[in-house]
Formats: sequence, structure tokens, C-alpha cells
Amino acid sequence: MRIRRPFAVITALVLSASLAAPHASARAPRYVKQPTATGTGGAVASADFDASKAGIQVLRDGGNAIDAAVAVAATLGVTEPFVAGPGGGGFMVIYLANTHQVVTIDGREMCPDACSSDLFIDPATGKPLAFEDARHSGLSVGVPGMVATWDSAVRQYGARSFKSDLQPAIGVAQRGFTIDSTFVQQEQAALPDLQAFTPSRKLFLTPAGQPLPVGSTLRNPDLADTYRQLANRGASFLYGGPLGNEIARTVQAPPVWPGTTLTVRPGIMTPSDVAHYQAKNRPPTHVNYRGLDVYGMAPPSSGGLTTGEALNILSGFKLSAESRTTALFHYLEASRLAYADRNAYIGDSDFEPVPQQGLLDPKFAATRRCLIGDTAPTMLPVAPGDPHAPYAPCPQAAAAANPVHEGTETNHLVVADKWGNVVSYTNTIEQLAGSGITVPGRGFLLNNEMTDFDFAPATPVTYDPNLPDGGKRPRSSMSPTIVLKNGRPDLTVGSPGGATIITTVLQILLNYIDFKMSLPQALAAPRASQRNGATTFAEPDFFNSPVAARLTSRYGEAFTQQTGPVLPLNSWIGNATGIDLLPGGRFQAVAEPVRSGGGSALVVNPG
Ligand code: GLU
Repeated sequence: MRIRRPFAVITALVLSASLAAPHASARAPRYVKQPTATGTGGAVASADFDASKAGIQVLRDGGNAIDAAVAVAATLGVTEPFVAGPGGGGFMVIYLANTHQVVTIDGREMCPDACSSDLFIDPATGKPLAFEDARHSGLSVGVPGMVATWDSAVRQYGARSFKSDLQPAIGVAQRGFTIDSTFVQQEQAALPDLQAFTPSRKLFLTPAGQPLPVGSTLRNPDLADTYRQLANRGASFLYGGPLGNEIARTVQAPPVWPGTTLTVRPGIMTPSDVAHYQAKNRPPTHVNYRGLDVYGMAPPSSGGLTTGEALNILSGFKLSAESRTTALFHYLEASRLAYADRNAYIGDSDFEPVPQQGLLDPKFAATRRCLIGDTAPTMLPVAPGDPHAPYAPCPQAAAAANPVHEGTETNHLVVADKWGNVVSYTNTIEQLAGSGITVPGRGFLLNNEMTDFDFAPATPVTYDPNLPDGGKRPRSSMSPTIVLKNGRPDLTVGSPGGATIITTVLQILLNYIDFKMSLPQALAAPRASQRNGATTFAEPDFFNSPVAARLTSRYGEAFTQQTGPVLPLNSWIGNATGIDLLPGGRFQAVAEPVRSGGGSALVVNPG
């Protein structure tokens, strides 16, 4: 039977509903997991559908891009626990519509006060530890900067509270999510490390210590509770609070599973290290490339300076008029030279005299460009230049290079809102599953970001800007990027992938700007990463392409592809996301169609 209500009652109900939830009246479209979405009202792209949905929910509920980015990142901590979460750190680049400014937040993990340059030197041998031994130890864990970044971003630039922005993640952690094959591949890749620590085994593996089955639901009530406490008590629940004390205790005495065969070294983090952590506002890097303003992340990330230098070098070539083979040869060689300078000069600028101005000076780039000849160089690795004016042209000597261990699985998320704000945010716990150590009862893994420091200089007399020190942050490659055209956001992009992040971002920018691909095409195109090595690491589709064959026969470039235990995970380079800011307030959000199982792009109002 139909119940009739007096008109006044209906009006009152409608009014009170619309006051309580001003946007509830517009019914949400049915969102589906897809790599590209075009429409209006705001846009999100991330590695994961639940996380992108969390961002869209916040945008629909009146949050801005900064609020939504925090909601996406917190949800990724639930659904992508091996690459994200409160135990890690990252870098956020933000375009603020009301001031037309690009600002950045450095939420990189920090070495404890007791760190010194011999952090990873084995006292028994006087030699650097093996990478894996350093990784699954308390020594590898830096003071997490993630929550400080979220809190700082929302306090300075958000439209809602940190508390509201954490709610979607709490919901997903409480309800659980379905495990897919990419998740299981990640578990397989990190299995020895997850198995070595009791709370990690309990949370992420079966009782027999094996990966969880595809299709099962993973609930994380511990993380839901951690987020709830952070929501209710603020970031000081971690920094200077009980959670910080628990993190320091876990680092000093990692909860090792009694049956493990791994040697696990204790760390040196104290509660006071955690209490003193601060996310830092830093000016962005900036270069002008073919009339576009490209903004990126300054040290301790090498991302902005290295992509910036490579773009400056490439400005001297008319790539769009060259054959694709020649243009890609110039891309590989510009990247090689920029990497030589990165390795020689970039570290945490609060500790090291990083010549930022020189590295981004077009005049310095000219002295590097002149080194690019008709074929790939044979004296390798190429030597760094001297980015201190006046610049000496074309130095030729080979130089020793430090080995690079950066992981290949991080995550990058992008958000744009209807007011014109844009966020480009790369964050990580470093290797897959970080240190492997879950904080007991807290539902999240701790990073191994300190292994991004060099363990020792390449030679005893080589200056190395990236050695550990108390309070220092290790050099990163994360390259969250925002491009402005005539002062307005045109494009935002970024990627995971450790040291390959820089080349992935560079390649996407060239694909889009010089080769005139659409953003989905620019992201999907096969990638190759030259980092001042004898060979260029290429994805299978690049490795097997005619252009790679021509680069070898005509220019002497040599390529390798990944062979290893966790294919195809390791044969992909990057799991990028981006947003193309189209005319008329429209957005095209873009995630990977294939790599890492594909990401999720959503817009508030599709179509
Ligand atoms: N630790 C790396 C960096 O800071 C990122 C790790 C990754 O992308 O997997 O550059």
C-alpha cells in the first residue's frame, strides 16, 4: 500500500536531507574500473579502483583535489599495502587555483638521528651489507613521512578535515577488498620478507605462510583502527604519540618469525626521531620546454632536476621533425647525460650543496648537448658535467658510478577538481613490501627507504651526495609533475619505478608534447630507460620493435630486457597515471591499460 504524507512533511524531509548531504541529491553514476575516463566535475587516476573511487567520493562530497588525494593515498595503504601506506613517504606537487601557484610537500622518510655514513657497513667485515640483508632489517626503515604529508596538505590547502578525508579508507579497511592476481604476484615477489616477520605473515599470508588466494577478501581491522585513531587524534597520534613509540620499538626489535632463516638486524630509530619529523614545503623545480612550464619535485628527489635537465638538453633538438629513431636516440642520450649529473650532484639539499640552478640552466644543458654525437658513446659511464657557472663545455672522461638499488613498485596518483586545483602525488614504501616488517597490531608495513642512500661511495675518493646521515633524507627518483600552458594546468603525470621513474615521466612528456600522442597513447607506449649504463633497459614491446633494431644498427644503442622470477611484474617499466586538462573544464583521467594489471581512471561526471 502506498503511504501518503502531508506535503509539509515531505518538504521538511527533502530539506533536511539536502542540508545534511548537499551533494546527495545528484545520484552518483555507476563507476567501473577502466584505464581512461573523460568528463567534468573532477578527475582521479590511481593504481586501484577502490582508491580512485575514494577520491571521487571525496570530490562529490565537497572536498577539493588535496582532500581527494589524501583519501586516495590512504585507501591505497589498504588495497596496495606492498607499495603504499602510513609506513612510507612521498612527494606531493600541487597547483593551487586560487593563487596560480605550484607548491610541493616533501614527505620523504628521514634517517634517524644516530645515522652515519656507515649505516649499511657491516661492522664484522668493514664492507657494505648485501642489499637484501640491509633491506629486511630495522636499519632500512626511515621515519615515515606519509601521515605528516597528508596532515600538512589538508591543513594548508584542503577544503575539509583530515578526519573526513580518512573515512573512505577506514571503510575499505573495515569491509575488506578482493584480492586480484597482481596482488598475489606482489606477495610472491616479496614472499621471503613477508614470511620473516610474524605480524606480516599473519596479516598478508595464509596460515601456511603462502600468498592469499585470488578472489579472497582481505580485511584489515588493525589498519581501520589505526586510521580511526589518526582521524580522531590527529597526526600527533603518530608524531610524538603512541603510534610513533610503537614504530620505534618495532624498528629496534623487529618482530621476527621464529622459523625464519634470514638474519634480521635491529634498527636505531627512537621515539624522539619520530616526534621530530616534519613534512617540508619546498619550492618546485621549473623548466620551460617548448613554451610549456614544467614543474617538478626538488631535492631530496632527483626527479624534477633530472627530468628538467634532460628536457633542457632536448630543447636543442627538433624532435617532432626528426625520424622516430633519431628522436629516441636523442631521448636516450639526453637521459644518459642527465643521469650522470644526477648521480654526481643530487642528494638532500639540506645537507649537500646541490647545484640546483646550474642543473636547470639551459646554458649548462647546452654544454651537455654538445656531447651527443652521431652514435652512442663507447666510454661508459659518461662523466658528469660541472654545473657551476661559467660552464666548461663537453667534458669527456668516464666516471665511476654508484650502484642503484631503488625499487620498481611505488604508486602515483593524480587528482584534479572543479575549482582548478591539481595534485600529482608519488608515494612509496620503496621495495615491494618495504622492509617486510608490519607494525604489530597496526596493519601496515614499514618502508625500507634508507636503502635509497648509497651504501658507500663508488671509490673512496668519489664525492657522494647520497650517503646516510642523521636527519638526512635519501635521494629519490620520484617525479610528480604538473605542466602549465599559458599559466593554466595542461597536464599532470607521474609514475612509480624507482630510478626508471625519471625516464618514464620524460618519455610520456615527449610522447605527448613532441610526438603529439593523446595522453592514453603516451602512457601506453612501450618504454625504454637509459640511466648512464652500458645498455638501455627496455620493455618487451620496445625491445622487440623495429625502432629498437634501428637504434642498435644505426646508433649503436644496446638494449636489455628483464629476465627474472616475477615476470611480467618486473618486465614493465612504471605504472603511470596522468590527467589531461582539456578545454572547457573537462578532464581526461588516464591510468595504465595493461601494466601491473591496469589502473583506474574516474571522473565525477563521465561523458
Ligand atoms: N624508492 C624509490 C624512490 O624514492 C621509489 C621506489 C619505487 O618506485 O619503487 O625513488
